[in-house]
Amino acid sequence: MKRPNDFKLETVRQVAERASYFCSNPKCRRITIGPDKSNQAKSTKTGIASHICAASQGGARYDMSQTPKERQSISNAIWLCATCSVLIDKNGGHDYPADHLKKWKKDHESLMKECLEGSKRVILQLKPVTDQSIICRKIIKFLENKGALFVDFNNENPHYVFDSIRDMRTFFVSLQTEILESSPLEVIVDSMTNACRHFMNNTQPTMSIKEMEYGLGAMRKIIGFNLADMKKVYSVTLSTNLESILPTE
Ligand SMILES: [Zn+2]
Repeated sequence: MKRPNDFKLETVRQVAERASYFCSNPKCRRITIGPDKSNQAKSTKTGIASHICAASQGGARYDMSQTPKERQSISNAIWLCATCSVLIDKNGGHDYPADHLKKWKKDHESLMKECLEGSKRVILQLKPVTDQSIICRKIIKFLENKGALFVDFNNENPHYVFDSIRDMRTFFVSLQTEILESSPLEVIVDSMTNACRHFMNNTQPTMSIKEMEYGLGAMRKIIGFNLADMKKVYSVTLSTNLESILPTE
């Protein structure tokens, strides 16, 4: 059913075309138009002209100073895929303020203009999106065999610890091509890679375990914080050993 402040069909078409039918969220840019599978004379559209400021009171980012005409105008619309159109309204829209969405729209339209003029090209990345929780489970499986993360300091061999952490860093770097750009997992893995790097820059394998203790403790703490985030965001289960280095609430 059409509500009083919904966009006119003409406005929907215009905002979609100005976005070249790509989602305007810079972290998404999913295409929202393509062929209909069963009818070769039809196309399928999945995008939505979303309200920057809500159409009616109580909606996300509702601006009471807007006139009904402004609410329905193209300047209040942003083209998004179905997922992102829901995302921006979560939590009452507080995570995505109007200025933020206006910037997405402006930047996206500028980019599409550059593509139209030929100074930039749209490159299709024909790579299936790997389920990020599969990568999380791979990380957990790898780390649960790394005693350097949880074995009592007194039972550690410094050479073994050093090699083990170098292995971890190499492993994290090898995952980079599988991790989605700008995903929470990218932040988590970057932080764990940096923790390994920092440890290696400030430690030598010739040090005693006593001399390594401080650096190793700090590194375990950072890995623990990141594993806690991973558990929360990707709903994965950790082994008992890895649970032991999570931050205590
Ligand atoms: Zn999207």
